[in-house]
Amino acid sequence: MALEEKREKRPPVTPMMIEEEAALRNGSRGLPPGPWADAAGPRPRTTERHIAVHKRLVLGFAVSILALLAVTMIAVLLSVRFEECGAAADGPPRAGGNGSLSGAARQPPGAGQPPGRPEEEARGGEAAEEEEEEEEEEEWQRRRELPPWARPRLPRHLRPLHYNLMLSAFMENFTFSGEVNVQLEVRNASRYIVLHAHRMHIEAVRVAEDKLAGGVRVARTFFYPQTQVFVVVLNRSLEVQRSYNLKIIYNALIENELLGFFRSSYVLHGERRFLGVTQFSPTHARKAFPCFDEPIYKATFKISIRHQATYLSLSNMPVETSVFEEDGWVTDHFSQTPLMSTYYLAWAVCNFTYRETVTKSGVVVRLYARPDAIRRGSGDYALNITRRLIEFYEDYFKVPYSLPKLDLLAVPKHPYAAMENWGLSVFVEQRILLDPSISSILYLLDVTMVIVHELCHQWFGDLVTPVWWEDVWLKEGFAHYFEFIGTDYLYPGWNMEKQRFLTDVLHEVMLLDGLASSHPVSQEVQQASDIDRVFDWIAYKKGAALIRMLASFMGHSVFQMGLQDYLTIHKYGNAARNDLWNTLSKALKRVGKSVNIQEVMDQWTLQMGYPVITILGNETTDNIIVISQERFVYDSDTKPKDPARGDNSYLWQIPLTIAVGNTSHISSEAIIWVSNKSEHHRIPALEEASWLLGNINQTGYFRVNYDIRNWKLLINQLTRNHEVISVSNRAGLIDDAFNLARAGYLPQNIPLEIMRYLSEEKDFLPWHAASRALYPLDKLLDRTENYNIFNEYILRQVASMYLKLGWPTNNLNKSLVQASYQHEELRREVIMLACSFGNKHCHQQAATLISDWISSNRNRIPLNVRDIVYCTGVSLMDEDVWEFIWMKFHSTTAVSEKKILLEALTCSDDRNLLNRLLNLSLNSEVVLDQDAIDVIIHVARNPHGRDLAWKFFREKWKILNARYGEALFMNSKLVSGVTEFLNTEGELRELKNFIKSYEGGAAVSFSRAVETVEANVRWQRLYKEELFQWLRKSLTQ
Ligand SMILES: [Zn+2]
Repeated sequence: MALEEKREKRPPVTPMMIEEEAALRNGSRGLPPGPWADAAGPRPRTTERHIAVHKRLVLGFAVSILALLAVTMIAVLLSVRFEECGAAADGPPRAGGNGSLSGAARQPPGAGQPPGRPEEEARGGEAAEEEEEEEEEEEWQRRRELPPWARPRLPRHLRPLHYNLMLSAFMENFTFSGEVNVQLEVRNASRYIVLHAHRMHIEAVRVAEDKLAGGVRVARTFFYPQTQVFVVVLNRSLEVQRSYNLKIIYNALIENELLGFFRSSYVLHGERRFLGVTQFSPTHARKAFPCFDEPIYKATFKISIRHQATYLSLSNMPVETSVFEEDGWVTDHFSQTPLMSTYYLAWAVCNFTYRETVTKSGVVVRLYARPDAIRRGSGDYALNITRRLIEFYEDYFKVPYSLPKLDLLAVPKHPYAAMENWGLSVFVEQRILLDPSISSILYLLDVTMVIVHELCHQWFGDLVTPVWWEDVWLKEGFAHYFEFIGTDYLYPGWNMEKQRFLTDVLHEVMLLDGLASSHPVSQEVQQASDIDRVFDWIAYKKGAALIRMLASFMGHSVFQMGLQDYLTIHKYGNAARNDLWNTLSKALKRVGKSVNIQEVMDQWTLQMGYPVITILGNETTDNIIVISQERFVYDSDTKPKDPARGDNSYLWQIPLTIAVGNTSHISSEAIIWVSNKSEHHRIPALEEASWLLGNINQTGYFRVNYDIRNWKLLINQLTRNHEVISVSNRAGLIDDAFNLARAGYLPQNIPLEIMRYLSEEKDFLPWHAASRALYPLDKLLDRTENYNIFNEYILRQVASMYLKLGWPTNNLNKSLVQASYQHEELRREVIMLACSFGNKHCHQQAATLISDWISSNRNRIPLNVRDIVYCTGVSLMDEDVWEFIWMKFHSTTAVSEKKILLEALTCSDDRNLLNRLLNLSLNSEVVLDQDAIDVIIHVARNPHGRDLAWKFFREKWKILNARYGEALFMNSKLVSGVTEFLNTEGELRELKNFIKSYEGGAAVSFSRAVETVEANVRWQRLYKEELFQWLRKSLTQ
């Protein structure tokens, strides 16, 4: 599963810049003469459009208010019904009737009632059953055991071998009915069949012994909503080593939400069309059919889908036969799947069209999307790279792709960027459709990496599946790591694994994992409600960073061999982390190396956080340096999460590489394994003026600190000749220095002194690292009195490179993109910094481009900087520009363009507009559900909107939590996005008060939010003045 990346950073709009540019809004007053004045002087004429937009807005408002009323009424109705059900559902509810084909199980609480629900059968022996039920309960109590349906995991006495699933999808009223036949193997005799089923209406249940005629009588059935299971109690025990068939007939809704079997829609030729699609990971297959919904229960599946012939249906396997009925219905029978888990099973009913390609090994790859997108060729890029990537993975893993086909499905609405269903991977349109004529490199990169990610899962996840969710990083860490390896295969010049991995993965996750409230990458998962929690950046990014460290100390070719063995041994099965460690240790042994990988990696996967290594050297004459390790935390005041275990007890076995250098020369050393708190090591080449550099190419998952003398030597080296130090280490030094200073390990001036060499830096990565590291610092300062001092300092560092690089033109073609990716990305980064911090020329350029677009109605803004220009334009220019962008947001059909237009609207400094946007964001007709979160977060990043977004979030928490609560990742993204830059005592108090009174999940996100804001407040108190003092001095020099 790919989560939404936040690769892009919106240019921060700063108070100073706004004041300075206020003239712009009022016409050309105060503007320098020249072409700029001509371009920006006469305000663009948008009056007519403006009126149209205005009408639309009024209409939009009316619609949203009506929608809100409707939603409220439905919510009230539902809550009434919930109470009714809730009262009845005390204890295991019972279903009526005995007999072989019977048992209308009662609706679970909160479930909508599907139409066509049959009358519940008369309850003959109700009293007798109740007694029986009570006796049973007492029996379990006497045995001091939880009954099998109340346990967090399914009881192990049964195993599904094969499912036959027949579905009928009724798209006209968004319901479906199903009949599932599960072939069961009995491991321990038992009277109970316990399997997952949630939010469905069960019409009939029958159990029969497989080989013999005649059923096993069903005594009663009931839902147990607390564990989302359905229980079939039999009159006699199922016998060991026999196999039985369980038949369940049921129906449910195709819900208007984001999980299970759900619906969404799009508009084609003015007509709304609907589609139904599934999202089962991690625990939502149980909403679509009764099943053993844990990854360990691999089985084969044979699916049939009956639907109107105006639709087509898709599933993991190809259609074997289609049977047409006279009444315009058709049933597609799909081939049987190999052994697989429920969470990556999938189907869809839609009227999409497709394009197709075939790999060398004969795998048919199709991309399905809205007919207009297919016609435009928006899916061709994805289709083309998918074919190449399947070939890449088959070669890299030496295991062929397992299924005859792979369909990629582009849907308008999805809770994640994408989902790796085996043979039918689903992508949100914004992450797979690409129109080359209007997409930036960054957008192309996003699309590429999501596809590389999902394809990796066809092996890591689908073919070999983690045993249980605690090791979800085993699949997500690999898929994330391979995003970079696979993209390097497609674009060899981009050096993703050596470069962008650092900023986008390593630096990003170290921010999170440096909080005391972090958690280990392998985390215990008890119940279903914990499972969503494990899909977070720690699992994805820390997982990937640890895998990269592992690959690097093993050596890449041995690592690759190990993975090939791992996949071959465990294919069509499940594996736990120790299985991986064993296979990798064996691979190392084969090349004559002996490292106990399990011992090393357990420390990294079972402990939270990461170490900061301090290297103290050059003080003695005998070339001895002292290396010590401690756990890195941003806020050393916060108590460790586990009070029994102080930070002092954290220890890692660290594969440290150290280089010694002087002005012209650098020598690399082999790995030093550091495993104690403090160690002495001898470094032969150490001379008086040599500097030491740890963690060569930042392959390790830790930070490195030095004595001030060594930092000064490094800064000196960077200033004189930075190329002696590798690009990745230059980026690493920047990120380490900023974060060590933020956490108080290092004086505040060191990172700002390092930055000075950037005026000579021609590589993208160090600039990118600096820009990302500056971002949180900027947010800490952007509402302070002395902000302009900081602003001025950054502008000075950026000015000369901005002048040197200039602006891009708009004639990028594909081959050019490939060749000049680094250069274009560097230029983009520098323009973003310049415009964000208020470089006058940059502002003028942006305004000119916007004015040209408005007056000519032709968008000639270079693709790669459109988001920067839109945002800068909206923040500087008047309301008409906002309306213009708003109108374009509505009229464009290209998803990449829509996204950046929407984000640009959040850049305004007009609080009324920001409030209007926030309110409109919850109207699903205007802003897609998954995009509303981005709107709120982006408003929070804007210093003029931070308090508005924070207030809006608190007021709408109930609605937001109801909408996203189940897709926990979205909720936690929202919580952290809205709170991460709060930094005053008052805001901290508001946050704590809100948490006291709030309802709903996301507790983990809130505790992380409190710690982050506490660290922000603490930094303001302790270090802000130190920073400003140094800046003042530095600017007057
Ligand atoms: Zn994934």
